Amino acid sequence: MSTILISGGTVVTASGTLDADVLVAGEKIAAVLAREVTGAGGTGEAAGGVGDSAAAVAADRVIDATGKYVLPGGIDVHTHMEMPFGGTFSADTFETGTRAAAWGGTTTIVDFAVQAKGTSLLATLDKWHAKADGNCAIDYGFHMIVSDVNDTTLKEMDACIAAGVNSFKMFMAYPGVFYATDGEILLAMQQAARSGATVMMHAENGIAIDQLVAQAIAAGRTDPVNHGLTRPPELEGEATSRAIVLAQVADCPLYIVHLSARQALAAVAEARDNGQNVFAETCPQYLFLSLDDLARPDFEGAKFVASPPLRSQEHQDSLWRGLRSNDLSVVSTDHCPFCFKDQKELGRGDFSKIPNGMPGVEHRMDLLHAGVVAGQLTLPRWVEVASTTPARMFGLYPRKGVIAAGSDADIVIYDPQARQTLSAATHHMNVDYSAYEGMELTGKVVTTLSRGRPVIDEGTYAGSTGHGAFLARGLNQYLV
Ligand SMILES: [Zn+2]
Repeated sequence: MSTILISGGTVVTASGTLDADVLVAGEKIAAVLAREVTGAGGTGEAAGGVGDSAAAVAADRVIDATGKYVLPGGIDVHTHMEMPFGGTFSADTFETGTRAAAWGGTTTIVDFAVQAKGTSLLATLDKWHAKADGNCAIDYGFHMIVSDVNDTTLKEMDACIAAGVNSFKMFMAYPGVFYATDGEILLAMQQAARSGATVMMHAENGIAIDQLVAQAIAAGRTDPVNHGLTRPPELEGEATSRAIVLAQVADCPLYIVHLSARQALAAVAEARDNGQNVFAETCPQYLFLSLDDLARPDFEGAKFVASPPLRSQEHQDSLWRGLRSNDLSVVSTDHCPFCFKDQKELGRGDFSKIPNGMPGVEHRMDLLHAGVVAGQLTLPRWVEVASTTPARMFGLYPRKGVIAAGSDADIVIYDPQARQTLSAATHHMNVDYSAYEGMELTGKVVTTLSRGRPVIDEGTYAGSTGHGAFLARGLNQYLV
């Protein structure tokens, strides 16, 4: 079994920072060896009882992480690789998308299998396995999108859980496509609750939104900014409140995906104060971008069309606060890239035809680190929202989400001083634009290990297609 010693770094976990060396044996972390504080005297023996020099001699490879952070690999629980949408597919395959994720320090994704109306959940799961199996550079799991609630589908939810897929996403938006009625949502929540599974909700009032969209198009307001103006934050707040009430009645754990509006956050905070099992994630685009980007001229705003839409600036402060207070527990990306050319362009002259989604899987860890640099998050909180809580929320902990003996050696060595400029010219996602073109950041991934294997090795791609394995997940470990 090959061994790697990561020496000299600062291990950052959700519970704090520690000057420690990390010994990897095969696919697992074998030991975390605390180093003696310089100048404190003593015997030269590390706190773990094993001298680090002894470990260094024993390891096949030593990686010098002096001045670097040693993090548990990022876990992005909201991605859409090669997802069908409006007659096209999101531009990253499982191969290109997982490679880009690794470049940015993410070692696990949880993607969405999408049930088409009239098809079964298990056939859907088979289809998504066929897309991903043998193609991923990092480990992956699936959530299931339930778009056709009927007796068969409800029964199949238990079979999905047995197959390691125990989170079911539903939509209060997109009438005629993924939209579920309140009655359908209640039925699925009751079914999920019997097994302890979590229902994930896209909470926007799609029925009302469709009326606003039709009015805008009829009035000739067709530019991309109208995508945002026809999906007001109040309609996200209303849907979030309604989802919370339905989950309360069904006694079902609820996870609000891609929360973007302070009205929705207030509803989540109230439910959490009341002790309900309600959780929420936000995404970097809602923390760093705004309605102003959606209003960029010459159709450039189309690059920023996603649902819920980017909000006005004042929502960003609320979201950062929510991340600190844990009313927002997770940051995922909702990575769903469509190229500007030929894909986003489908909506020239009609914003409602612009494919919904933005690229982001590569830059989540870096953008959140920018939040650390700006004083919005502490270092441990960065790791918590990007890795540890996602692992707990979706039944992967402590295999993933922590640097500890026995856990998978999914490890990121991160240089907090390195400078980088985000650009489509240098990113690794299979998409022709960056939503953050020209943004300068401090901090960069140096090395990413997936189960002990270098995927990014000192700034060079060293991974292999098909190394990534499917993760059968357990139930939510975060319930109150
Ligand atoms: Zn999504």
